[in-house]
Amino acid sequence: MSDSIEHFFRSNIVKMAPYVPGEQSANASTIKLNTNENPYPPSPRVFEAIAGGTAKLERYPDPLATAFRNQAAKVLNVSPDQILCGNGSDDILTIITRAFVGAGDWIRFPNPSYILYRTLGHIQDANIEEISFADDWSLSEKFFEPRDRLKLIYLPNPNSPTGTVVSREQIVDLAKHMDCPILIDEAYADFATFHCADLPSRYPNVMVSRTLSKSYALAGLRFGYLVAHPKMVAMLRKVKDSYNTDSISNALATAAIEDQTWLTENVRRCNATRDRLTTELRGLGFEVIDSQANFVWCRPSGDDSKRLYEVLKSHHILVRYMNYPSWTDGLRISVGTDEAIDKLLAVLKDALLAKTI
Ligand SMILES: *Cc1c(COP(=O)(O)O)cnc(C)c1O
Repeated sequence: MSDSIEHFFRSNIVKMAPYVPGEQSANASTIKLNTNENPYPPSPRVFEAIAGGTAKLERYPDPLATAFRNQAAKVLNVSPDQILCGNGSDDILTIITRAFVGAGDWIRFPNPSYILYRTLGHIQDANIEEISFADDWSLSEKFFEPRDRLKLIYLPNPNSPTGTVVSREQIVDLAKHMDCPILIDEAYADFATFHCADLPSRYPNVMVSRTLSKSYALAGLRFGYLVAHPKMVAMLRKVKDSYNTDSISNALATAAIEDQTWLTENVRRCNATRDRLTTELRGLGFEVIDSQANFVWCRPSGDDSKRLYEVLKSHHILVRYMNYPSWTDGLRISVGTDEAIDKLLAVLKDALLAKTI
């Protein structure tokens, strides 16, 4: 019996590859630069809010996270009925995919980009179309082509793993052109020079997702949200779990988004380290793409990325080695504390020297 459980599952689930999150480390002294977490602790207000969040655990949470939505609406200058909260922005992506995409429908997204989109498509038994960026990291013409049964476009902006951005003008163009929902995944927008959270009120097919995991330093909390047209939000509520965010995360996420002073200072600090990391890696002979996120994508010229990943790992420094068959391989390095980045650069320098001797 034990070898015959596969036939219980839908065939697309049997066939699909599982999504593999970045490595975690049991060793507390490991320097973790592989999953774009914030290297600093969250706002002190989050710790103050913990007692408030646990006060009524015998009751169900507010299913719509109203306190959070009111606060986020002020920050983004939208209305609270334009916001849908989720258990991390991955939950938001799941809700959207389930709402719009059925078996045999098409999903479009750029390549390279966030690998989870593929997983979400496979769960729906959808067809997936990955379209390479143009040479300047804008959307290529193919992205604008109509396709029968195209039901959803994902556009991470800034993109992962490159940290590059597609301009607002091109996004507006896409919105006007395509007769399907477009999800702008703004997981890293707080680190960028612009965002598109104002677009959904003008273009109802545009939605913007955000997360508290990266810029608010709350990856362990699991809280994300969507900004969309009020009519979109009303429909999407039908698809979400009734209590998809809990009382503790509602209280802590609200405290975090109230502290915009903390956010501004944290982003300034991370971006300063990112720009220094970029310059120093280039000094070591790496090709580095200019990033608007809290990580950089780089490739060593004359060395191999996989080898450097292994060398770093042997020094207890984790970065993400990624290989995109239709593009290239390389290292995605998250912004850490300045101290962590100095250690990383020292190990890389030694590794490159050892190779040339
Ligand atoms: C990290 C990340 C997310 C997911 O964030 P969570 O809120 O932690 O689920 C979504 N999209 C992209 C592109 C990311 O890098």
